[in-house]
Amino acid sequence: MSNELASFKKDISQKFTAVFKQNATFISVAPGRINVIGEHTDYNLGLSMPAAINRWVIIAFAFREDNLIKISSESFNNQMEYTPGKPFTPTESWMKYIFGALEIFQRTDKITKGFNAYIWGNVPLGSGVSSSAAIEVAMMGLLRKAFSASFDDVTLVKNCQKIEHEFLGVKSGLLDQYASQLSKAGKLMALDFQSMTHRYFDAEIGEYAWVLVNTKVKRELAGSKFSERVDETQIAFKEIASKNSAVKHFRDITLKDVELVSDSVLKNRIKHFVLEDQRVFDTADAFKNNDLKKVGELLLESHYSLKNDYEVSCPELDFLVEKSKTFDGFLGGRMMGGGFGGCTINLIKKAKIEEFKTFILPAYKSQFNIDGEVYAFDMVDGANVEKV
Ligand code: ADP
Ligand code: MG
Repeated sequence: MSNELASFKKDISQKFTAVFKQNATFISVAPGRINVIGEHTDYNLGLSMPAAINRWVIIAFAFREDNLIKISSESFNNQMEYTPGKPFTPTESWMKYIFGALEIFQRTDKITKGFNAYIWGNVPLGSGVSSSAAIEVAMMGLLRKAFSASFDDVTLVKNCQKIEHEFLGVKSGLLDQYASQLSKAGKLMALDFQSMTHRYFDAEIGEYAWVLVNTKVKRELAGSKFSERVDETQIAFKEIASKNSAVKHFRDITLKDVELVSDSVLKNRIKHFVLEDQRVFDTADAFKNNDLKKVGELLLESHYSLKNDYEVSCPELDFLVEKSKTFDGFLGGRMMGGGFGGCTINLIKKAKIEEFKTFILPAYKSQFNIDGEVYAFDMVDGANVEKV
């Protein structure tokens, strides 16, 4: 475990003790994630290439003597109280995730005792790095361990997806939770949502580094546009399947099949899926061949596909990509996550990260009057619950 994480855990334990006047007995940790390529593919059972990063949600926990559940959020500076079996109405967004985890856990397992918990996080919220998956996975993992439930990691990840579907109304795929739970330090994951399997690989980037630039914008329409894309791709799929009986799953669709879609917008949506999936294979090959220039080109292709065919980008993301392209030491980059704000992910020469910061941030500020942020990061292990 990194010194950084160890010191966060110690700090959160102390805060827990200060609030609840007892020592924590479990510390649950779940990271945010990046995704190199394979965007908006998970909910249609395509492919992605994520890794967890050294930004975490951490929850400190100890049992109580009664059956009350008291949970404090440092980030939101308030507390919720919940009693199993009694009605509860979340009054803040973070409570929906916790309430969802508690309710879904109790569909298969029992909460036999009350507890206190203290939640902290440094995953930037609403930035496409998936702080929501981090809080879900941290809470679900904690409940599994504390109440000796026996479901496996894939079930855990699917339970967390149910929180998004049922308690947030977002029909998201499994990328975020899967990456938060199952990543391995220093590795990228090649993730196949059809077979629900993954493999880890070293994606050596030598004198380059992955760098995120946060637009610091998050648009309200992101949620509704997300559902719209889920629906649009379903409609396009059904039309193709009705015209070509060989197509049983999204992954069976070829570029030729794309032409079977009569509506031009829907055609573009499904084209993104087919080409983005191919780009995940191509990126894996490019890594194998140590061809980082090719990786960079694929990232840019992915961006333009998300911008033009899938239409989930926004002026701030497009500006960052176009401006970054003029930086000497930039190999490629794209919008990352759901879109309409959040971060770009970029392949930048390691020695030039500071220079890149002073290049991109003032340009972004003068264009949009927003202070963006640049993050370098490490790829870390997935979630973990420690008994202390
Ligand atoms: P993203 O997953 O891209 O970060 P979301 O809107 O899906 O954005 O999730 C952000 C929400 O997750 C926050 O508004 C909050 O409700 C919850 N959340 C994430 N991290 C924390 C945290 N450390 N403490 C409390 N709530 C958190
Ligand atoms: Mg989220």
